[in-house]
Amino acid sequence: MQARSHRVILLTVFVSLLGLQGCSQGHNQGSSTSYFQSVVAWATSLFGRQTSYDLNKVTSQENIIPILIIGSGPAGLGAAIYGARDNIHTLVIEGPTPGGLLMYTTEVGNWGGEKSIQGPEIIQKLHDHAESLGAKFLSDSVEKVDFSQWPFVVNTMNGHQLRALTVIIATGATPKKLKVPGEDTYWGYGVTACAKCDALFFKDKNVVVVGGGDSAVEEALQLINHVNSVTILVRGSSMRAAASSKERIANNPKIKIIYNAQIQEIVGTQGDDHHVTGVKLLNNKTNEVSDMPIDGVFLAIGHKPQTDLFTGQLSIDELGFINTVDCTHATTVPGVFAAGECADHRYRQAWSSGGRGTEAALDALAWLRSIGFNQNIAQQLNVWAPDQSTFDVPDLDSYAHLMQESAKSSKPIVLDFWGPNCPGCLALLPTVKKVAKKRQDTASFFKVNAEGELDTVNDLVVKFKVAKIPTILIFKDGHEATRHVGPLTTTELEQLVDQYS
Ligand code: NDP
Repeated sequence: MQARSHRVILLTVFVSLLGLQGCSQGHNQGSSTSYFQSVVAWATSLFGRQTSYDLNKVTSQENIIPILIIGSGPAGLGAAIYGARDNIHTLVIEGPTPGGLLMYTTEVGNWGGEKSIQGPEIIQKLHDHAESLGAKFLSDSVEKVDFSQWPFVVNTMNGHQLRALTVIIATGATPKKLKVPGEDTYWGYGVTACAKCDALFFKDKNVVVVGGGDSAVEEALQLINHVNSVTILVRGSSMRAAASSKERIANNPKIKIIYNAQIQEIVGTQGDDHHVTGVKLLNNKTNEVSDMPIDGVFLAIGHKPQTDLFTGQLSIDELGFINTVDCTHATTVPGVFAAGECADHRYRQAWSSGGRGTEAALDALAWLRSIGFNQNIAQQLNVWAPDQSTFDVPDLDSYAHLMQESAKSSKPIVLDFWGPNCPGCLALLPTVKKVAKKRQDTASFFKVNAEGELDTVNDLVVKFKVAKIPTILIFKDGHEATRHVGPLTTTELEQLVDQYS
């Protein structure tokens, strides 16, 4: 393990020294196939990695995936469309939040060709497109990868061990959060981390941007074209943004900066007109707390690329972004590619991520060709495909129905309070279905449509005082045993259910 870490550190140093990192070195790539052949030769000669890619040996192995994509946001789905379109078996491992951040976004105004579209609809369209071309989807998360052997070994949380000829990493990045009360409640209802996406919805409003880095400046500059005022809340006594950035906002009458300011809580209205109305602000110098009325909170406190899984396996920069080489999506491991926000600290747009995924798939296809992969070989492979049978979680529409189910057995009853217009609920639904299938012998699962018939809402939603969806409520022995509000991974839901089974 230590030897591998040293190898990755060395590799990073070499990548930088040789000028292969980044996209400005003017290397002559020639044809993409010969380019990848040279990358393979380069990495092999330096580190004694895999010296050959023997496709004949691979035909005798099980669980082969020619193109394995980790992540199902725009980058992963863009890659899936291009992989499947080339008639090559392409598997997408969807990850803990299928569809990624867009599933938690409401209106999107900067997706090309759509003046306004819901985030989940973008994902649904991309997913359907990829699926119609033959891409397969696995509702599971990656637990471990081993890129030191080829085919690359990928283990999933649900116990699958897959062997991939190429891997495209599209695990995205998550905006860092403040972790203060109200942040989750109003996420998407006034709290956001993307001015480019959401500034339009704050026309003539007063908003705050949290953070003192270059992103905070960018966010403020995006916002001033739409809003009435922007107040940048900086937790320290100075901004860490570059001097050139700070100059861009200096003396702008619409932008004010408050230093030593920390949000303690985000407050707002409840019910149908659910939105932010203000923040409780701590002055960390004087310890005074004040109420600041505000319409929107834009977080710019950094992003965390979701790349922990790959530490020690390939070159990752000091901020956690995967290093790619020479204007392509190739990583420092030949045959492994990265696209979207896990490798992009600059653009971070859903639209651009879709394009990056496309490029990564084209790179992966070129790399496969460079090692001799063709349709003849493809037909000889023992490819693995996920079980596509779906598991239906029935609806529960009344308290009487719940009582009947409760009388039938002592198994816990898991209620998923959801709504068709709730992005977080749609993201959670595949997880609920998956766990319902796995735990069908030990628990009963039902969906409750909180946006549905008034009787159902009155009978179940009001009775159980469900104030936010998604909510998972476990009912056992005639009583509510526990509940969880908000997103859950498969493992977390399994653990929750197992506590009461
Ligand atoms: P940074 O990490 O540079 O800045 C994050 C900011 O958020 C800091 O001011 C930090 O405060 C603050 N912060 C962190 N956590 C909290 C918290 N819990 N509460 C309040 N404030 C908090 O991230 P950026 O996204 O701004 O930039 C990332 C990288 O991308 C940088 O290298 C930047 O230069 C680059 N970038 C470049 C751009 C450009 O060139 N145009 C545009 C955008 C980004 P503190 O300073 O006290 O730690």
